[in-house]
Amino acid sequence: MNGQHFDVVIVGAGPAGLAAACEAAKTGARVAVLDDNPRAGGQVWRNGPAHPRSDELTALLREIQASGNVTLASAARVIAPLDKGRLLIESAEQGGACIGYDRLILATGARELLLPFDGWTLPGVTGAGGLQALIKGGVPVRGERIVIAGSGPLLLASLATARAAGAQVVAVVEQAPLASVLRFGVSLAATPAKLVQAAQLTRGFAGLRYLTSSVVRAAQGSGRVERAIVERAGGRMETIDCDRIACGYGLVPNTTLARALGCATRADGAIAVDDAQRTSVANIFAAGECVGVGGMELARAEGRLAGLAAVDVEQGEQLRRERERWQRFAARVESAFALRDHTRQLPTDDTLLCRCEDVSVGEVRLHANWRDAKLHTRCGMGACQGSICGGAAHSLLGWDVTQVRPPIHPAQIATLMLAADEDAAAH
Ligand SMILES: Cc1cc2nc3c(=O)[nH]c(=O)nc-3n(C[C@H](O)[C@H](O)[C@H](O)COP(=O)(O)OP(=O)(O)OC[C@H]3O[C@@H](n4cnc5c(N)ncnc54)[C@H](O)[C@@H]3O)c2cc1C
Repeated sequence: MNGQHFDVVIVGAGPAGLAAACEAAKTGARVAVLDDNPRAGGQVWRNGPAHPRSDELTALLREIQASGNVTLASAARVIAPLDKGRLLIESAEQGGACIGYDRLILATGARELLLPFDGWTLPGVTGAGGLQALIKGGVPVRGERIVIAGSGPLLLASLATARAAGAQVVAVVEQAPLASVLRFGVSLAATPAKLVQAAQLTRGFAGLRYLTSSVVRAAQGSGRVERAIVERAGGRMETIDCDRIACGYGLVPNTTLARALGCATRADGAIAVDDAQRTSVANIFAAGECVGVGGMELARAEGRLAGLAAVDVEQGEQLRRERERWQRFAARVESAFALRDHTRQLPTDDTLLCRCEDVSVGEVRLHANWRDAKLHTRCGMGACQGSICGGAAHSLLGWDVTQVRPPIHPAQIATLMLAADEDAAAH
């Protein structure tokens, strides 16, 4: 790929990125779709040894293949934006490469929000979406007792995946109060497709303990998680024996690349876009959960709109209305599952905040802000580059964690040298 130039480059091969590619490709434009996962599909359509491709993904990939003008590069990660409309990428197969674009569409999705609790680094503790990814990737959970915890509809998707894989889900621990969850359930009548999906995900729900206004406070075990300590409404502690805890507090837009490119973000952290999915930077568009968490249907509608805008094709009114319908659904999810104060409670000082660099909550909170904490403790400077502890620091300490400095992901020296060579050649 090194040195190639495309009319449209799309970062992210989830519902938003693939839908954008389909629309842009219809005009004959040369399109490239890059994704750092080994297979296209993003989070919701993640597939692997234990999980076949969904029909929706298969149909989109068939359309893309039939177009003949889309290059789909899997296991290819954007490491840094370069000047003059170029990106530095690192691919598992081909190593480093620089590619150019006339128009760029960011469809980088969202990340799971993990909030630290005592024992959260024990083997057997993952995110709720993380558990989904592990099971779809082939990790066996048959016969395991699992506590699924955190907040939001993703807990139910995780529940269904774990059950289908033969696990025994002993409890779902939801931080939102029962009244909010029920109100959300009733509101699903406005989106019949989601109502059907919820009914499918919760089939066999009768035997399940669904605890509301409840938060996992600790994971305990010797060498591996053996029990979850859950704080129930009113402060009562309950111990639940289990082999795994999958705990995630919803999703946060993944805007790292957008910020490195200088795109403006909104107060809620998502990439700011106009009605045509244009960002604040000329020729850069964005779609999907990086512009606001709202599920697969919204991501797909926004992706189609961005794909059309990127090749200067008029966007239909019907597609805009569809986007609005799913934006209303997203707002209902947001209000029902907003984090409560009891969820944002800081864990004990000796709990690790940064798992990559082993930095505790106590060490981090001695500092006034994220930048100082990074400089003095190395928190957020390890392999994940703050994608986990940054979200936690923002939620628990209220810190601004939006500064970004490329490279945005760890990369091989050879890849970084390639960027330096390209720069030298360009000047
Ligand atoms: C861990 C997790 C599990 C989820 N599981 C489900 C589920 O089971 N069911 C459900 O309905 N929803 C699930 N979701 C919600 C899901 O994110 C959305 O509904 C949907 O997938 C959003 O589509 P998208 O196209 O916006 O982003 P995504 O599907 O997330 O696709 C974005 C893609 O961009 C890639 N990317 C990001 N940055 C770069 C970069 N620098 N270089 C290259 N590639 C990059 C990502 O790896 C990802 O593959 C999950 C979310 C998460 C975080």
